[in-house]
Amino acid sequence: QPAPQEKRGLLGRLMGRAAPKTVVRRTLDDDMLEQLEELLITADMGVDTALRVTANMAEGRFGKKLSVAEIKELMADEITRIMDPVARPLPLYPKKPQVVLVVGVNGSGKTTTIGKLASQFRAAGKKVVIAAGDTFRAAAVEQLQVWGDRAGVPVLTAPQGSDPASLAFDAMGKAQADGADLLLIDTAGRLQNRSDLMEELAKIVRVIRKKDESAPHNTLLVLDATTGQNALNQVKVFQEISDVSGLVMTKLDGTAKGGVLVALADKFGLPIHAIGVGEQIDDLQPFDPQEFADALVG
Ligand code: GDP
Repeated sequence: QPAPQEKRGLLGRLMGRAAPKTVVRRTLDDDMLEQLEELLITADMGVDTALRVTANMAEGRFGKKLSVAEIKELMADEITRIMDPVARPLPLYPKKPQVVLVVGVNGSGKTTTIGKLASQFRAAGKKVVIAAGDTFRAAAVEQLQVWGDRAGVPVLTAPQGSDPASLAFDAMGKAQADGADLLLIDTAGRLQNRSDLMEELAKIVRVIRKKDESAPHNTLLVLDATTGQNALNQVKVFQEISDVSGLVMTKLDGTAKGGVLVALADKFGLPIHAIGVGEQIDDLQPFDPQEFADALVG
């Protein structure tokens, strides 16, 4: 059965479906490279990264005739080469509790990702505590409690509008007293007032360091793949207001053209700890560059 047009990867769309056993060969010339660049740009890879990928593809092969399969493999290899260094699971330090601050704009999937992470670590035998640090949004707190129940993990909350830093301080105390392995702290995602958010995050960091100077051990930025190139800007902003140590990209299950992930890896080199591929508790996967590149190229 031929796959529907929109399900095909990038090159599938460009080359169409070669008849079985027919080897279609294309010359890797300027025209071809330009078409490839355009495809990568439509996949949200951004101009700079798209140019880098096609330039690497052409190196030593310009003007050669390649089969569609060879072009696909070449492109997937170049993408994998950019992505390989950033594919790293969330590092687990022996330090107890390991503190993970989760940042990102509202709607990016912070709450969902915290629920999924809690469930994964719990399934791996770890003791997890969640702090509902977005005390401003009652809905976020409620949602986090639902996820905590699903994952079988306690969720610490504070009254709406109360100081998130004070909640984080209490959560640190509880996680230490309980001998928890992991403390996941949700934070507000109101970027409208950047300096307020920056102060709020800085204060959370200050108070948890009173309990453990090495905390937070990770600051995880959650990004929504459907925002495309916007994700690049979000990394810039969150790097300015917090100490981002790694990324989770959500909503890669949808129609999102995950090419922005390649641009992120190319420009920032931050580790990609996991990807979100759905709304259910098990829909968080380790990032696999080869699989990702193959799916993108198609
Ligand atoms: P927050 O505001 O950053 O805490 O975002 P939420 O965790 O509440 O997520 C916002 C919306 O995105 C919710 O409807 C989630 O179900 C949805 N969502 C989160 N992660 C994923 C994902 O990986 N795939 C899909 N399809 N939806 C997701």
